[in-house]
Amino acid sequence: MDIKQGFVGTVGNTPLIRLNSFSEETGCEILGKAEFLNPGGSVKDRAALYIIKDAEERGVLHPGGTVVEGTAGNTGIGLAHICNAKGYKCLIVIPDTQSQEKMDMLRTLGAEVRPVPAVPYKNPNNYVKVSARIAEETPNAVWANQFDNLANRRAHYETTGPEIWTQTDGKVDAWVAATGTGGTYAGTAMFFKDQNPDIQCVVADPMGSGLYSYVKTGEISSSGNSITEGIGNGRVTANMQGAPADDAIQVTDPEALKTVYQLLYKDGLFMGGSVGINVGAAVKLAKKMGPGHTIVTVLCDSGARYQSRLFSRDWLKQKDLWSDELLPANFQA
Ligand code: PMP
Repeated sequence: MDIKQGFVGTVGNTPLIRLNSFSEETGCEILGKAEFLNPGGSVKDRAALYIIKDAEERGVLHPGGTVVEGTAGNTGIGLAHICNAKGYKCLIVIPDTQSQEKMDMLRTLGAEVRPVPAVPYKNPNNYVKVSARIAEETPNAVWANQFDNLANRRAHYETTGPEIWTQTDGKVDAWVAATGTGGTYAGTAMFFKDQNPDIQCVVADPMGSGLYSYVKTGEISSSGNSITEGIGNGRVTANMQGAPADDAIQVTDPEALKTVYQLLYKDGLFMGGSVGINVGAAVKLAKKMGPGHTIVTVLCDSGARYQSRLFSRDWLKQKDLWSDELLPANFQA
């Protein structure tokens, strides 16, 4: 018998997918961990589950209690699913710049959703800080605190990393991933380095994020911005502190879009924007390392969460990011 125990028992153990078109182009094996196949639809199901289990084990989350979090959406969706499955309430503070699809999903799940203006972390009204205050003021509530709660990266040290290790028989030359909280990148990188310190661990970063300069120079600085959601950071979170990083690679929005459209039309994979950054960075790394290497990255969530943005010609045109070349030649007008 092979029966998963509800939502919680279905998180993780995702397939590792060879990205055929990119592997053939580069001569490397470019592999994507299929996190969009988690039951809540994203890589963040793993962190959400570890954070809730950790709160239960610490005795701070009780039946009927409330889980409060500030999130770009996917962590909130994971938390809301698990809260439903375990009998908790869920309250989500989200920057109002995030996609309608993610907000609608949170409301469908029954979470209380509080959109707030997107302001930088140092502003006291930043969504993360608002969520901390709400958790403090709400009786019987816990703050998930995904950015600085190390249960987040532990999820990846204990599950994502070991799964990839087994799936590749330990034949990994490089690991590359963008970071939001840093949990996915750091936990997996730490696991890989513990198995084999020669594995190259590389941070992928969108424009407007400070981590590229942090890895390269030790200083946080950034310019530009990105339409990708859930990734990039202007600070080094607790989850990123002490994470190994051999290098960093920047990927622009046009590069990420080209990658996402190629995944859709050449590989048949409908992926979100952060996947464009991840796979775009994996391709750049493959070109730098040369053929014959195995490079692993993350397929964080599905394109369905961004249909009204990344896959809307009108929306992309408004952002001056549309190009007919995104479509295969036989689709172009
Ligand atoms: N991609 C997407 C779409 C996400 O929502 C997130 C999480 N915010 C990430 C990537 C990054 O994951 P992590 O928080 O583990 O760094």
